[in-house]
Amino acid sequence: MSEKRKYKKRYCKYCEQKVDFIDYKDVASLKYSLSERFKIMPRRLTGNCKRHQDMVTIAIKQSRAAALIPYTVSRKVIAGASFEG
Ligand SMILES: [Zn+2]
Repeated sequence: MSEKRKYKKRYCKYCEQKVDFIDYKDVASLKYSLSERFKIMPRRLTGNCKRHQDMVTIAIKQSRAAALIPYTVSRKVIAGASFEG
């Protein structure tokens, strides 16, 4: 019980599962890297490695083009202050 950091684990989920290809149709898996407003989560939050983050980003963009994932959520409740990288 040395390290008790529950969040901010820095391992890559995809590396752990030895994923070599991320399918844009696999929305469930893509949602892991999306915020609640369907923005792509930055790497420092998901813990993904660069390689997989790139794959996820590409897959998400393809998925958006195929209308599997919305570009943004329609309701504009949270207009204004949002921090994006
Ligand atoms: Zn990885």
